[in-house]
Amino acid sequence: MFTIGCHLSASKGFLNMGKEAKQIGANTFQFFTRNPRGGAAKAIDENDVKAYHEFAKENGINIILAHAPYTLNACAADERIREFAFNTMVDDLKRMEYVPGNLYNFHPGSHVQQGADVGIKLISEMLNKILTKEQTTTVLLETMSGKGSEVGRSFNEIAEIISKVELNEKLGVCLDTCHVFDGGYDVVNNLDSVLEEFDKIVGLQRLKAIHINDSMHGFESHKDRHAKIGEGKIGIDAMERIINHPSLKNLPFYLETPNELDGYQKEIEILKGLYKN
Ligand code: FE
Ligand code: FE
Ligand code: ZN
Repeated sequence: MFTIGCHLSASKGFLNMGKEAKQIGANTFQFFTRNPRGGAAKAIDENDVKAYHEFAKENGINIILAHAPYTLNACAADERIREFAFNTMVDDLKRMEYVPGNLYNFHPGSHVQQGADVGIKLISEMLNKILTKEQTTTVLLETMSGKGSEVGRSFNEIAEIISKVELNEKLGVCLDTCHVFDGGYDVVNNLDSVLEEFDKIVGLQRLKAIHINDSMHGFESHKDRHAKIGEGKIGIDAMERIINHPSLKNLPFYLETPNELDGYQKEIEILKGLYKN
């Protein structure tokens, strides 16, 4: 079954996101846990969550993906920024238990001149303090494009973080097609070998979600500018191969393309047309 959705605004609550997803032909969605630039999160409305659960069950809305704010930097040089990252993730994971058994994705961080090794150490230390046996949410590290001092620019960096985390059964990976292409993994011409490499270094069993985005800039550009499906340097043929790859086709796909709802609806229709059941 094709699990496809897009990024939706969480400002009107869970039920509204479920309804919007259905309206545009999606059966999942991604949302920010709070303002993407940080700040306090809205209180969870238990009635909204309850109504959402019923709606999701009736309408076959599946595994949903929460995205941490961009300002969350687990490996910042400034201790106060790391503290904000810690508090935010703790609070987000507590809130995620209102919708148990789903996914929470975050950008590993930017090491800001401390070096990737220090970054990896700080990120894994934070995860070791946060993850609990009881949590039902799987925390995903997103593969990054390598813009600036981003950690998670290579499968090796992702694997290193995971290997340093004790409760790593709570960890997974979200592969962003724009980011990996920008980061130097040629998912256009060598999808099989990219996934083989991922399997060797990280393990395909860790892969829990795909951000399906085209890229405005070319291979290895490290730019991280998403393009609409088929309108970027990845292109529609590669998209078709990606969503149908035997190692990927059963994962949930989330669009983060520059679109409003109607644009997302169109892309979902296009991808559904290309997906082979
Ligand atoms: Fe992201
Ligand atoms: Fe992404
Ligand atoms: Zn991006």
